[in-house]
Amino acid sequence: MIIDCHGHYTTAPKELQDYRDAQIAALKDPSKPPYNGKIEISDDQIRESLEGAQLKLQRERGTDVTIFSPRASAMAHHIGNATTSADWSRQCNDLIHRVCSLYPKNFVGVCQLPQSPGVAPQNVIGELERCVNEFGFIGCNLNPDPSGGHWTAPALTEKYWYPVYEKMVELDVPAMVHVSSSCNPVFHATGAHYINADTTAFMQFIQGDLFKDFPTLRFIIPHGGGAVPFHWGRYRGLAQDMKRPTLEEHLLKNVFFDTCVYHLPGIELLLKVVPVDNILFGSEMVGAVRGIDPRTGQYYDDTKKYLDALPLSEGDRYKLFEGNARRVYPRIAKKLSK
Ligand SMILES: [Zn+2]
Repeated sequence: MIIDCHGHYTTAPKELQDYRDAQIAALKDPSKPPYNGKIEISDDQIRESLEGAQLKLQRERGTDVTIFSPRASAMAHHIGNATTSADWSRQCNDLIHRVCSLYPKNFVGVCQLPQSPGVAPQNVIGELERCVNEFGFIGCNLNPDPSGGHWTAPALTEKYWYPVYEKMVELDVPAMVHVSSSCNPVFHATGAHYINADTTAFMQFIQGDLFKDFPTLRFIIPHGGGAVPFHWGRYRGLAQDMKRPTLEEHLLKNVFFDTCVYHLPGIELLLKVVPVDNILFGSEMVGAVRGIDPRTGQYYDDTKKYLDALPLSEGDRYKLFEGNARRVYPRIAKKLSK
């Protein structure tokens, strides 16, 4: 079985964006109550939105199931207030639940959290519980920077975040560290902000003692861990200078990376540097980079091809494509057996 741990509903019917546009437009007049429209999307529209995209690519690339969440760049936690974010998250998560119900063999849900800058993270717990307990979602996307590129929130290792972590541990769900769009024009969303966030989260984990307090808490740092694998020596050295434990002792029971690195040398480096037990196959399709690499004739985001090109043992292939995902997202077992 091949589990892709990183996919977003980037092809949702346009009614979803129409809803969001109306919601944002209503914010312009704060004297009025929040937008209270309805999203009318039929099952056929959902099927159509996936058949020519994610499902087609699953079939072509030979993957089986995608751990699927709302479009990350559209979470935009910085827009409006906590009410705006709560409503938008519910709408997006409801739609993911419909996708997973229509295609239970192809998609397993992960939720967007209703974060909002300056709002205490315990505010997201209700939605996390709803998605896990009612919908059977198996994880969440946690945004370390709900301000959208201004980094106003405390580091992920601060007690500020602990109520969310307590709930994650109780529910036994991991979080993918995932920022959203950037409202700071100096940071391109997918080219800079995403990769910055991945790198930033890892450095925060080195500096903090989070996993002493939460030994079973699990994070996936996407996009191959940002700059981390390439600079592994820097992080080892910084940890040493700061009298921190080694990265292996300190972080690698709790922190995992995906394979959303869009060229073979990047994947080779990732696998050379990070233990295979800490890498989960992911492609982020249909997502950040949608084109075909003229040098290879293959989609940049067909990350399975890069892994297939490596001389991996059967055991390592199993870990990358299935075993590690089962360990990090234990709730997937129930979903896959159905
Ligand atoms: Zn993503």
